Amino acid sequence: MATKIPSPPRVGMVSLGCPKALVDSERILTKLRADGYDMSPDYAGADVVLVNTCGFLDSAKEESLEAIGEAMAENGRVVVTGCMGDEAELIRARFPDVLAITGAQQYEQVVEAVHDAAPPSLSPYVDLVPQPDVKLTPRHYSYVKISEGCNHRCAFCIIPSLRGDLVSRRPDAILREAEKLVAAGTKELLIISQDTSAYGLDLKHATYPLKGGDVVRAHMVDLAEKLGQLRTPDGEQPWVRLHYVYPYPYVDKVIPLMAEGKLTPYLDIPFQHASPKVLKLMKRPANEAKVLERLKTWRAICPDIAVRSSFVVGFPGETEKDFQYLLDWLTEAQLDRVGAFRFEPVEGAAANALPDAVPEEVKEERYQRIMAHCAAISAAKLEAKVGKEIDVIIDLVDEETGGATGRSKADAPEIDGEVHLRDARHLKAGDFARVIVEDADEHDLFGVPVGG
Ligand code: SF4
Repeated sequence: MATKIPSPPRVGMVSLGCPKALVDSERILTKLRADGYDMSPDYAGADVVLVNTCGFLDSAKEESLEAIGEAMAENGRVVVTGCMGDEAELIRARFPDVLAITGAQQYEQVVEAVHDAAPPSLSPYVDLVPQPDVKLTPRHYSYVKISEGCNHRCAFCIIPSLRGDLVSRRPDAILREAEKLVAAGTKELLIISQDTSAYGLDLKHATYPLKGGDVVRAHMVDLAEKLGQLRTPDGEQPWVRLHYVYPYPYVDKVIPLMAEGKLTPYLDIPFQHASPKVLKLMKRPANEAKVLERLKTWRAICPDIAVRSSFVVGFPGETEKDFQYLLDWLTEAQLDRVGAFRFEPVEGAAANALPDAVPEEVKEERYQRIMAHCAAISAAKLEAKVGKEIDVIIDLVDEETGGATGRSKADAPEIDGEVHLRDARHLKAGDFARVIVEDADEHDLFGVPVGG
């Protein structure tokens, strides 16, 4: 039976005020879209309406109150944010039923209020951001969505029918958002989209002006280079991770940036399979690329690069021979991080009509085999790090034990491994620390801060 996808909640947005307020609205919407929300162009179709207000002049305040009044009358489920949020009593006196009021630049609170008003319908088949353990992304790492939709038509995927073809955000707007995030405490930017390597294709890779006479081209490589130039208020270089990259030839150009320390040496490439026959049935993009050879070249240029990928087992038509081909390929590829999924027919996916469905028990058996295979590869790779020094970003410090949990450059939050530290009481979430690795298991490392 096909798996039903819950329809995403829809947010309406009324944005008033100056260009700064517009940038704030854009940032809130980016976060909401990354969380799986759709935008509604009208009041009627919205599950919740966000009014970003301006309170600069009395006339602007009056305009904001009118906008809130209209949203209340037309929809009734309203969250107020922006400059007028500082005058909550005034708003409450007129509109006691608004759901929440937050002030200017209180991004996390606004997003939380929207989550409360219309909870996101998370689905692993549609959403790019992993379901987090905590409600919101901690301030020290942030997801930045650079485009929406996809031009491919992979047989198991319904994204193009839900989200449409690729629509890229302007690179100057992305950089502005990233700059603000870094200024506000973000130490790690997670670049996401359905197809990061295709970024800018719809903008014809045009060039856009930046502050100070500089320019940026709407292209993954150029954007990555600019993101690598950002610095925190303390002069630290934030980590920048590229997710959902397909192995198009020009991906080779980001590897030298990683080798030069301008970009985090991490690539998330969803290969999904290795057998040419299954890849063809899946209609995967860029599958003709000689991936194993390129992985070797990438590692020669940047020995520290960590490659993560995901794979689907039990796709219709996958034989034992195809599956064995995948396991052998994985032995060769020595990927650092692997996620595997059993194929599920998602409602509306073309793959559902393919012949030779794989029985559930075979899917399960292949899933267990691929997981064990990749765990063994991962354990050996992590074991090789014991005794070495690595950089770690701290996610959590346990005041009681003095231990901490963090991640190396090879670990994206929620989906990869962790680094567990002892004697780390002096650190705090968001700190970068140099760590000596003392031990390893299948997925995680264990260590102690250098000189700590
Ligand atoms: S590349 Fe394929 S799997 Fe990814 S979003 Fe596009 S159609 Fe879906």
